[in-house]
Amino acid sequence: MEELITSIHLHTTFSDGTGKHSDLAQAALKAGIDVLITTDHNVWIEGMEKYFKAEKRRVLLLVGEEIHDQARQPQKNHLLVYGADKELCTFAADSQTLINKVNSAGGINFLAHPFEDSLPAFGEGDIGWLNWEVRNYTGIELWNGLSELKTRMKSIVHGVLFAFFPQFMAQGPKIETMKKWDELLLDGKKVVAIGGADAHALKIKRGALNRTIFPYEYHFQSINNHLLVEEGLSDDIRKDREKIITAFRKGHTFIGYDLPASTRGFRFSAQGKDVNAIMGDEINLGKGVTLQVKLPQKNPCRLLKDGTPIKYWKNRDVCTYLVDSPGVYRIESDIFYLGKMRSWIISNPIYIR
Ligand SMILES: [Zn+2]
Ligand SMILES: [Zn+2]
Repeated sequence: MEELITSIHLHTTFSDGTGKHSDLAQAALKAGIDVLITTDHNVWIEGMEKYFKAEKRRVLLLVGEEIHDQARQPQKNHLLVYGADKELCTFAADSQTLINKVNSAGGINFLAHPFEDSLPAFGEGDIGWLNWEVRNYTGIELWNGLSELKTRMKSIVHGVLFAFFPQFMAQGPKIETMKKWDELLLDGKKVVAIGGADAHALKIKRGALNRTIFPYEYHFQSINNHLLVEEGLSDDIRKDREKIITAFRKGHTFIGYDLPASTRGFRFSAQGKDVNAIMGDEINLGKGVTLQVKLPQKNPCRLLKDGTPIKYWKNRDVCTYLVDSPGVYRIESDIFYLGKMRSWIISNPIYIR
């Protein structure tokens, strides 16, 4: 299978980001990203999808949207929408109607930054997800690269530190979000997890401080989605878009925090009697299933079954596990970076029925 590195929660000058589509593409080419999907707030922009090329590299830029009810106070329930290929923000007032409209348009959707902290000192509220009664959404944004700032920024000192050295910030998804994901999975739902940069490349001007914080290049080297597809990119945008949306819909993807070390090459697969499966797939237990994990380098790794760790590996890059009971199995791997253990890889589950 081919692996595409994708960054799919991005804001441009069409909403509250500071870069144009072409700026994002240039930053992505430098960072080694294969696919970008922009998600401006409540605006779907037609005619922007294209391949950008530089020497031997290229990136496909696609356009999605981040939709929320702008009349609602306080602001909540942001939904990331991909592949619907039309403006749907008129349905923002009712999350379920919006999700249904996205699905019937052939798109996919993810509950954005479902749990957040607020930052009252900076006038920033928590824009989490409240409408948990909704059904038939594709998945949730498990780890959001900007939202995490609200959790990590305990004082103005942290603010200055992260503005100059963003690499100190990211540690992992919010515990509440991880818990909720496991709860939904345990409930029998298929819920695809994605990571979002939520890149804005905010420009801060305060006294002597005049800086772009969390530039696009930083985000593209940080929390990405590594998507597994049958074939790599072609020259046909329609075909490539379909391939990318389908792979996300199926959960053929893992979240990789690529800044400490590239997560490219990670694999989590299952071998049954006659069939193989990868992340996102279902497989029958039959007489037993062997799970196999391949890590790009030897880092601590654990296998979770129905949200509970059942096996730890400390110093291996290939790990196997013989499954003898059904459940939802997924992998987490951590990495020691800048004085702390941090989340490195979070796989989507393999559903053993
Ligand atoms: Zn948002
Ligand atoms: Zn956003």
